[in-house]
Amino acid sequence: MDDDRDARREMEEALRAAVERGEIDVVYQPIVAARGRAICCVEALARWTRDGNQPVPPDVFIPLAEATGIIDALGPLILKRACEAARQWPDIGVSINVSPAQFRNPNFPEQALTIIAAAGIDPSRITLEITEGYFIQNPGRAKLVMDQLKAGGVRIALDDFGAGFSSIGYLIRFGFDRMKIDRSLTSAGQLTVKGGAMLQATVALAASFDIPVTAEGVETGEQAAFLHLCGCDQLQGYFFGRPMSESAICDLIAPPEDRQSIAG
Ligand code: C2E
Ligand code: CA
Ligand code: CA
Repeated sequence: MDDDRDARREMEEALRAAVERGEIDVVYQPIVAARGRAICCVEALARWTRDGNQPVPPDVFIPLAEATGIIDALGPLILKRACEAARQWPDIGVSINVSPAQFRNPNFPEQALTIIAAAGIDPSRITLEITEGYFIQNPGRAKLVMDQLKAGGVRIALDDFGAGFSSIGYLIRFGFDRMKIDRSLTSAGQLTVKGGAMLQATVALAASFDIPVTAEGVETGEQAAFLHLCGCDQLQGYFFGRPMSESAICDLIAPPEDRQSIAG
């Protein structure tokens, strides 16, 4: 147990130092329009390579950052990077994950809106993704923060729908602009008839309240076709593209040969 605690403390210090030095990368996963399959958005995802050679998954370092307060520096760093990158893709939306710990910070809306404005990005291009946890724990405060952000022009998506206790009630009551269906629900739709029916009903219910739905974790063409049929207007997953570097997204949007022909 002592070894575990020491290892955790060492990782915490390494992460703190990496954030201070700005040694956190951001990669971008394409999100496509279900109709036509053109890239319409990207989701920014944080990456940390400890000591330059040990990649640490975000499922490990994000919870550590949340538990230790490091998220107060890490969150804004990721938001700033993503907004600066977004300047290269004026026609593309950018989704950024926000942890409940950031939402809990009363200064968060002002801080986030300042970063977006400083990057010169139209706030309507930015979607902040948040999971339901904080909304269940502290609905009053969560709604207040959400309203401040929405008044500033950014959109808010409910992330990981179907992974926890998510209810359509929350979606409507809080005025989320978009719902993102968790990978577990996406794959359940393919596995059993019941799974398919559940998926269809979920998307139909959101659509009946005019809430658009993105399906995450789309890994096959069959899943993509089914989710489009269910009514999802945006699709995201390895089938369309893995998270990639900023320059790879630039190439995807305007392949180098196009850029040359524009330049020439
Ligand atoms: P998430 O927000 O649900 O992000 C989607 C995750 O699913 C990403 O994992 C992505 O690489 C993965 N994924 C996308 N398509 C597929 C697919 O077709 N199949 C499979 N198997 N996986 C797919 P990643 O990058 O490891 O991130 C894991 C989680 O860590 C994220 O889940 C998010 O909760 C958190 N996270 C990542 N970056 C940030 C960040 O900048 N801030 C905060 N607060 N959380 C972050
Ligand atoms: Ca997300
Ligand atoms: Ca998600």
